[in-house]
Amino acid sequence: METTDVMNRLIPISSRDDIPERYRDTPVGLLLEYHNLGRHHAAYSSAQLLIGMCMDNRKHLRIPDNFAFIIRAGGANLRYSEFKVSYAISVGGVQSLALIGHTQCGMVNLVSKKDQFVRGLVERAGWDQRAAEDHFLQFAPMFEIGNEIEFTLAEVTRLRQRYPNILVAPLLYRVEDNLLYLVSE
Ligand SMILES: [Zn+2]
Repeated sequence: METTDVMNRLIPISSRDDIPERYRDTPVGLLLEYHNLGRHHAAYSSAQLLIGMCMDNRKHLRIPDNFAFIIRAGGANLRYSEFKVSYAISVGGVQSLALIGHTQCGMVNLVSKKDQFVRGLVERAGWDQRAAEDHFLQFAPMFEIGNEIEFTLAEVTRLRQRYPNILVAPLLYRVEDNLLYLVSE
């Protein structure tokens, strides 16, 4: 996806006033203030927010200790992490969820990485070729996200239906500037 196409779908947060009223003064708004605006870190004794984000190594959130549960899964895909989401809500007590996709996500266009995936498992992990190919073909369709922005929005829609009383927000982390953006809905 071209950078301009991505930017057109994003709401930059460079001041508190940029945060839509729906999220302002919620844990989602606080996340944006902490990460983007350098808000002074408050002390928390319990988690306020559940964050779903990709496992990608290029992302680091500036948030206070104890502020959030974080589930990291390829592509910020929580479809296979539902028990953990339910746990963070029911036992952990959070009422807000920020789902954070990111640019340059490796879970986009997985099929283009098949040869590298198979060769890497064979050479690095000691798998045989056939088992590595079967593994890829079995799981790649489950983990393919297609497009970071579309997937994040679709996943947010699914989570809102699944957890109707929870505030669920679509965010995108741009690895180009290490800032969080709200995805325009
Ligand atoms: Zn990713």
